[in-house]
Amino acid sequence: MNYQDCIREIPDFPKKGILFKDITPIFKNPEAFHNLIEDLYNKVKELDFDYIAGIEARGFLVGVPLALKMNKGFIPIRKKGKLPGEVIRAEYELEYGSNTLEMHKDAFEPGSKILIIDDLLATGGTVSASIEMIENLNGQVAGLAFILELTFLNGRERLSKFPVISLIKD
Ligand code: IMP
Repeated sequence: MNYQDCIREIPDFPKKGILFKDITPIFKNPEAFHNLIEDLYNKVKELDFDYIAGIEARGFLVGVPLALKMNKGFIPIRKKGKLPGEVIRAEYELEYGSNTLEMHKDAFEPGSKILIIDDLLATGGTVSASIEMIENLNGQVAGLAFILELTFLNGRERLSKFPVISLIKD
C-alpha cells in the first residue's frame, strides 16, 4: 500500500474550520511505513548532515526510523517542560494557537550539521522556532524535510535559506 493513500482528512480538528491531515494510518501499515521511509531516504541522502532532529511528536515517528537507516544520531525537539536537562527555548505561532519548543543545550556539538524533520509544513512557524534554537546553539541547519506541505500557506517562502524537502504537496 502507498503511504500517500494512508493520509486522511479530519474536519474541525483541533478547532472548527481546520481540515486536519491525519497521518497515523501510515504507521499501522508496515508496507506504507516502509515506503515512506524509503522515499524520504531517497530525497535526503544527498544532503550532508550529522544528526536528524525530529519535532515532537509526529516528527519522531519519521525521524527515528530514518536516523537508524542512515546511521545518524537522533535529537528530540520537544514541547515545553518535557526535557530533563538544561534547555534552550523558542516560542512560535501555530496555524491554530501558539506553543513553546525546547531542546537540550548539549544536544549536539557546536558546528554540527542537522536535518530537521516534521510530519507537515504549514505556515513554517514550528520549523522556524526549531531553526532558531539550533542556530543559537551554533548548529548548522542542513535541510528541512516533511511528509506533507500545505503549499497555500507559503511556509516555504520564509525557509528559502535552506533546502526544503516535502514528499506530498497539497
Ligand atoms: P506550522 O508551524 O504552521 O508550519 O505547522 C506545522 C506544525 O503543526 C507541525 O508540527 C504539524 O505537526 C502541525 N500541523 C498543522 N496542521 C496539521 C495537520 O493538518 N496535520 C498534522 N499536523 C499538523
